[in-house]
Amino acid sequence: MKLAMTTTACLMTILITAALLASGCDADNGSAKEKTMNNKTASATGSAGTQACVLNPDGTPVCGEEHWKAKTDEEWRKTLTPEQYRVARQAGTERAFTGKYWNEHRSGTYVCAACGQPLFSSETKFDSGTGWPSFWEPIKKEAVSTHTDSAYGMDRTEVKCSQCSAHLGHVFDDGPAPTGLRYCMNSAVLDLKLAEGQKSEAPKK
Ligand SMILES: [Zn+2]
Repeated sequence: MKLAMTTTACLMTILITAALLASGCDADNGSAKEKTMNNKTASATGSAGTQACVLNPDGTPVCGEEHWKAKTDEEWRKTLTPEQYRVARQAGTERAFTGKYWNEHRSGTYVCAACGQPLFSSETKFDSGTGWPSFWEPIKKEAVSTHTDSAYGMDRTEVKCSQCSAHLGHVFDDGPAPTGLRYCMNSAVLDLKLAEGQKSEAPKK
Protein backbone atom coordinates (compact mmCIF):
# COMPACT_ATOMS: atom_id res chain seq x y z
CA MET A 1 0.00 0.00 0.00
CA LYS A 2 2.72 2.36 0.94
CA LEU A 3 4.57 1.43 -2.22
CA ALA A 4 1.54 2.10 -4.34
CA MET A 5 0.91 5.40 -2.64
CA THR A 6 4.46 6.47 -3.04
CA THR A 7 4.40 5.57 -6.69
CA THR A 8 1.10 7.28 -7.21
CA ALA A 9 2.23 10.36 -5.40
CA CYS A 10 5.37 10.38 -7.44
CA LEU A 11 3.54 9.98 -10.73
CA MET A 12 1.02 12.63 -9.78
CA THR A 13 3.77 14.97 -8.84
CA ILE A 14 5.51 14.33 -12.14
CA LEU A 15 2.33 15.03 -14.05
CA ILE A 16 1.53 18.14 -12.10
CA THR A 17 4.98 19.53 -12.17
CA ALA A 18 5.50 18.67 -15.82
CA ALA A 19 2.64 21.02 -16.48
CA LEU A 20 4.14 23.62 -14.23
CA LEU A 21 7.61 23.17 -15.68
CA ALA A 22 8.77 22.68 -12.18
CA SER A 23 10.14 19.55 -10.63
CA GLY A 24 9.03 16.01 -10.11
CA CYS A 25 9.16 13.26 -7.59
CA ASP A 26 11.44 15.27 -5.41
CA ALA A 27 9.09 18.20 -5.08
CA ASP A 28 10.85 21.49 -5.03
CA ASN A 29 10.01 24.24 -2.66
CA GLY A 30 13.29 25.96 -2.05
CA SER A 31 12.41 26.10 1.58
CA ALA A 32 12.03 22.55 2.78
CA LYS A 33 12.67 22.69 6.43
CA GLU A 34 16.13 21.82 7.39
CA LYS A 35 15.92 19.00 9.79
CA THR A 36 18.59 19.15 12.34
CA MET A 37 18.41 15.61 13.46
CA ASN A 38 22.14 15.35 13.53
CA ASN A 39 23.87 15.40 16.81
CA LYS A 40 26.73 17.69 17.39
CA THR A 41 29.25 14.95 17.27
CA ALA A 42 29.35 11.83 15.23
CA SER A 43 25.90 10.70 14.34
CA ALA A 44 24.57 12.00 11.10
CA THR A 45 21.41 10.15 12.12
CA GLY A 46 20.13 6.74 11.26
CA SER A 47 22.63 4.48 9.66
CA ALA A 48 25.22 7.18 9.19
CA GLY A 49 28.24 6.63 11.30
CA THR A 50 31.42 8.39 12.05
CA GLN A 51 33.54 6.87 9.33
CA ALA A 52 32.30 9.18 6.65
CA CYS A 53 33.19 12.30 8.56
CA VAL A 54 36.36 14.31 8.44
CA LEU A 55 38.26 14.64 11.66
CA ASN A 56 39.28 17.58 13.75
CA PRO A 57 42.96 17.81 14.69
CA ASP A 58 42.00 16.27 18.02
CA GLY A 59 40.40 13.31 16.28
CA THR A 60 36.78 14.22 16.87
CA PRO A 61 34.59 13.79 13.81
CA VAL A 62 33.02 16.72 12.04
CA CYS A 63 30.02 15.83 9.98
CA GLY A 64 26.50 16.84 9.11
CA GLU A 65 25.52 20.36 10.04
CA GLU A 66 28.77 20.93 11.87
CA HIS A 67 30.74 20.14 8.75
CA TRP A 68 28.59 22.52 6.77
CA LYS A 69 28.97 25.28 9.32
CA ALA A 70 32.74 25.07 9.08
CA LYS A 71 32.27 27.38 6.12
CA THR A 72 30.10 30.46 6.11
CA ASP A 73 27.09 30.66 3.88
CA GLU A 74 28.97 33.18 1.80
CA GLU A 75 31.86 30.78 1.33
CA TRP A 76 29.53 27.98 0.28
CA ARG A 77 27.87 30.25 -2.23
CA LYS A 78 31.28 30.95 -3.72
CA THR A 79 32.23 27.27 -3.71
CA LEU A 80 29.03 26.01 -5.27
CA THR A 81 27.13 27.06 -8.36
CA PRO A 82 23.78 28.73 -7.66
CA GLU A 83 22.02 25.52 -8.74
CA GLN A 84 24.21 23.40 -6.47
CA TYR A 85 23.54 25.73 -3.56
CA ARG A 86 19.81 25.69 -4.23
CA VAL A 87 19.70 21.91 -4.18
CA ALA A 88 22.27 21.21 -1.48
CA ARG A 89 21.30 23.87 1.01
CA GLN A 90 17.73 24.76 0.19
CA ALA A 91 16.52 21.25 -0.63
CA GLY A 92 15.75 22.34 -4.15
CA THR A 93 15.21 19.96 -7.03
CA GLU A 94 16.52 20.18 -10.55
CA ARG A 95 13.95 19.75 -13.28
CA ALA A 96 13.57 16.21 -14.56
CA PHE A 97 15.64 15.32 -17.62
CA THR A 98 17.75 18.45 -17.27
CA GLY A 99 20.55 17.28 -15.00
CA LYS A 100 23.86 16.05 -16.33
CA TYR A 101 23.61 12.50 -14.98
CA TRP A 102 20.07 11.18 -15.48
CA ASN A 103 21.20 9.61 -18.77
CA GLU A 104 24.77 8.90 -17.75
CA HIS A 105 25.95 5.33 -18.28
CA ARG A 106 29.70 5.50 -17.85
CA SER A 107 31.43 3.73 -15.01
CA GLY A 108 32.73 5.54 -12.01
CA THR A 109 31.97 6.87 -8.58
CA TYR A 110 29.53 9.64 -7.86
CA VAL A 111 30.88 11.89 -5.13
CA CYS A 112 29.22 14.73 -3.24
CA ALA A 113 29.68 17.95 -5.23
CA ALA A 114 29.93 19.91 -2.00
CA CYS A 115 32.44 17.89 0.02
CA GLY A 116 33.74 15.14 -2.27
CA GLN A 117 32.60 12.19 -0.21
CA PRO A 118 31.95 9.09 -2.41
CA LEU A 119 28.18 8.50 -2.42
CA PHE A 120 27.13 6.11 -5.18
CA SER A 121 28.75 3.67 -7.58
CA SER A 122 27.70 3.53 -11.22
CA GLU A 123 27.21 -0.19 -10.62
CA THR A 124 24.08 0.51 -8.63
CA LYS A 125 22.68 3.09 -11.05
CA PHE A 126 19.60 2.16 -13.03
CA ASP A 127 17.24 3.76 -15.52
CA SER A 128 14.26 4.75 -13.45
CA GLY A 129 12.56 6.73 -16.21
CA THR A 130 12.10 9.65 -13.85
CA GLY A 131 14.68 11.98 -15.35
CA TRP A 132 16.84 11.94 -12.25
CA PRO A 133 19.90 9.80 -11.64
CA SER A 134 18.68 6.82 -9.63
CA PHE A 135 20.51 4.24 -7.60
CA TRP A 136 19.39 1.23 -5.64
CA GLU A 137 22.03 1.59 -2.95
CA PRO A 138 24.62 4.07 -1.69
CA ILE A 139 28.27 3.15 -2.03
CA LYS A 140 28.22 2.42 1.69
CA LYS A 141 25.54 2.79 4.28
CA GLU A 142 27.35 5.52 6.17
CA ALA A 143 27.69 7.74 3.12
CA VAL A 144 24.18 9.10 3.40
CA SER A 145 21.83 10.02 6.19
CA THR A 146 18.08 9.86 5.93
CA HIS A 147 15.49 12.19 7.38
CA THR A 148 11.72 12.23 7.45
CA ASP A 149 10.28 14.82 5.09
CA SER A 150 6.57 15.47 5.50
CA ALA A 151 6.36 18.46 3.21
CA TYR A 152 3.45 18.57 0.75
CA GLY A 153 1.45 16.11 2.80
CA MET A 154 3.67 13.29 1.61
CA ASP A 155 5.71 11.06 3.78
CA ARG A 156 9.03 11.00 2.06
CA THR A 157 12.53 10.23 3.14
CA GLU A 158 15.06 12.91 2.45
CA VAL A 159 18.62 11.81 1.69
CA LYS A 160 21.58 13.91 2.70
CA CYS A 161 25.32 13.54 2.41
CA SER A 162 26.36 12.29 5.83
CA GLN A 163 29.56 14.23 5.76
CA CYS A 164 28.43 17.76 4.87
CA SER A 165 24.63 17.41 5.18
CA ALA A 166 24.02 18.61 1.63
CA HIS A 167 20.54 17.70 0.45
CA LEU A 168 20.85 15.06 -2.27
CA GLY A 169 17.30 13.94 -2.99
CA HIS A 170 14.88 11.36 -1.64
CA VAL A 171 14.71 7.59 -1.34
CA PHE A 172 11.60 5.61 -2.28
CA ASP A 173 10.70 1.98 -1.84
CA ASP A 174 9.82 1.28 -5.47
CA GLY A 175 13.32 0.49 -6.69
CA PRO A 176 14.68 -2.68 -8.24
CA ALA A 177 16.24 -5.73 -6.63
CA PRO A 178 18.21 -6.42 -4.61
CA THR A 179 17.25 -3.60 -2.25
CA GLY A 180 13.92 -2.47 -3.67
CA LEU A 181 15.03 1.08 -3.04
CA ARG A 182 15.23 4.01 -5.42
CA TYR A 183 17.58 6.79 -4.44
CA CYS A 184 16.22 9.66 -6.54
CA MET A 185 19.12 12.09 -6.67
CA ASN A 186 19.87 15.48 -8.15
CA SER A 187 22.69 15.60 -10.69
CA ALA A 188 23.61 19.06 -9.45
CA VAL A 189 24.96 17.79 -6.16
CA LEU A 190 26.81 14.84 -7.68
CA ASP A 191 30.17 14.75 -9.37
CA LEU A 192 31.07 11.66 -11.40
CA LYS A 193 34.63 10.53 -11.02
CA LEU A 194 35.08 8.36 -14.09
CA ALA A 195 36.61 4.93 -13.79
CA GLU A 196 39.81 4.44 -15.71
CA GLY A 197 39.36 3.99 -19.41
CA GLN A 198 36.02 5.82 -19.54
CA LYS A 199 35.55 8.51 -22.15
CA SER A 200 35.43 11.97 -20.71
CA GLU A 201 32.80 13.41 -23.01
CA ALA A 202 29.26 13.41 -21.72
CA PRO A 203 26.67 11.23 -23.42
CA LYS A 204 24.21 12.78 -25.82
CA LYS A 205 20.77 13.39 -24.42
ZN1 LIG B 1 28.89 16.15 1.13
